[in-house]
Amino acid sequence: MIMWIQHSKLPFFATLIALTVPVFAQQPAAPKPQETEVWEPVPKIVTPGASNAAPPSDAIVLFDGKNLDEWVSAQDKSPAKWIVADGILTVSKAPGVGNIETKRAFRNYQLHIEWKIPENITGSDQARGNSGVFLASLGPGDAGYELQVLDSYNNKTYVNGQAGSIYKQGIPLANPNRKPGEWQTYDVVWTAPTFNEDGSLKTPAYVTVFFNGVLVQNHFELKGQTLYIGHPFYKKYDTAPIKLQAHGDHSEPISFRNIWIRELN
Ligand code: MG
Repeated sequence: MIMWIQHSKLPFFATLIALTVPVFAQQPAAPKPQETEVWEPVPKIVTPGASNAAPPSDAIVLFDGKNLDEWVSAQDKSPAKWIVADGILTVSKAPGVGNIETKRAFRNYQLHIEWKIPENITGSDQARGNSGVFLASLGPGDAGYELQVLDSYNNKTYVNGQAGSIYKQGIPLANPNRKPGEWQTYDVVWTAPTFNEDGSLKTPAYVTVFFNGVLVQNHFELKGQTLYIGHPFYKKYDTAPIKLQAHGDHSEPISFRNIWIRELN
């Protein structure tokens, strides 16, 4: 009886091997951005309360509506060329302008920043008001650590890439987005990663984010830099500027105002 069962399974295993072993050895597929996208569960929608957050007495004001004295081009450290008008900072999409970052470098801090998606925003998914607050800008060759800015009021995308996400790592705990055309706030507590002498990780980065006053990241532990493609890893740094993203999508440029920081070192 036992012999009969074993023999009867032989054709089955032969078929299984034929189906699973490729005839020709294949090259490993190149990594794709879709491999690190997460689409469910979708964070619940929460209607935020009215909010206002003027800088406290010990804050360093990074943008008060008047000028970009605290900012430079992230690419070459030349004076920042985004548009300042009516107390508002707006991304410039002029060729060669790109991202801007603070002149100062920071380790641990509390950050307040307000942003607005234009009312006439077009596009969808990641190409709808995409910008970002890079909590540590590590230079042109590194992804750094991005808190996503995007219109996520009524715009489906992968949930680890919507507004309030730590890009491709931290799904927001809720969706308190306001409509395009309305100002929104981020209040961030950033605990920078620390490193050993040899560059290995000592303690990871943590971030807490309030989005329009609603907690969306609760002491979230980062796995490393926030990569578009591939999986996060850490790279040693000490202090770093904060960077704002001029994303290359074709929708209308977004605006910022009332940016201040409190160092927690
Ligand atoms: Mg972005």
